[in-house]
Amino acid sequence: MCTTEKHMIVIGAGIMGASIAYHLASRGIKVTVIDKDQPSSGATGSSFGWIHTTVSDDAPDAFLRRASVADWQRLEKEIPELWVNWTGALSYDDESLESQPNENLLQQPEISRLEPAFNNPPRRAYYAVYDGAVDPIDATHALLEKACSLGATLKIQTPVIGFLQNGNHVTGIQTPEGVLNADNPEIPAIYRPRRIISAPKQP
Ligand SMILES: Cc1cc2nc3c(=O)[nH]c(=O)nc-3n(C[C@H](O)[C@H](O)[C@H](O)COP(=O)(O)OP(=O)(O)OC[C@H]3O[C@@H](n4cnc5c(N)ncnc54)[C@H](O)[C@@H]3O)c2cc1C
Repeated sequence: MCTTEKHMIVIGAGIMGASIAYHLASRGIKVTVIDKDQPSSGATGSSFGWIHTTVSDDAPDAFLRRASVADWQRLEKEIPELWVNWTGALSYDDESLESQPNENLLQQPEISRLEPAFNNPPRRAYYAVYDGAVDPIDATHALLEKACSLGATLKIQTPVIGFLQNGNHVTGIQTPEGVLNADNPEIPAIYRPRRIISAPKQP
């Protein structure tokens, strides 16, 4: 593990912030995750949690989508509380089927075997064997808990209302409680800001 005295602030305790916090904390970095509400209260809380790998090779996100499977598998090993349901996925809208070779398409009996809850199974469907699904709320909590067990701090119900800037660098954040500095060994370091940019008026 590498160690550093740097303090990093992650704004937002959704799946992205939770993952960043976990990966920073597991490298020995001091990290504070700050959210205006609760963990998973943003888009993460509404997500289907589909780990969707089946895109065409020339799609701009094809590499990231496929690489994410290995990352989720690694996370499952590192954090036992986080697990993925690797069931694969059936797609059956006409548009996605058009781009698939016939040998990749399943017929109705096989579709019903894979998904017995179908009342009205489609005639044909594409089976993405490597797709999976996570519970996005549980996964976010597992990542945050692991980050906190490694020394991260989670501050909830604390909106970030502005940034502290030194030259071209953002060096901290402003909250209604005061300023929290990044890249500072003292956490939390709350004191009056030297300079605040983009700080909206407080109600
Ligand atoms: C209906 C739906 C279905 C989806 N299905 C899928 C899917 O199947 N597969 C998939 O990969 N993706 C899916 N997505 C997309 C996925 O949910 C998002 O890409 C992902 O959750 C984004 O995570 P995030 O952490 O970046 O953002 P968020 O989860 O939105 O987290 C942002 C956090 O920042 C906090 N915040 C915002 N402003 C401030 C502030 N000023 N101060 C402090 N905190 C602040 C918020 O409270 C929030 O908790 C879906 C999205 C939706 C809406």
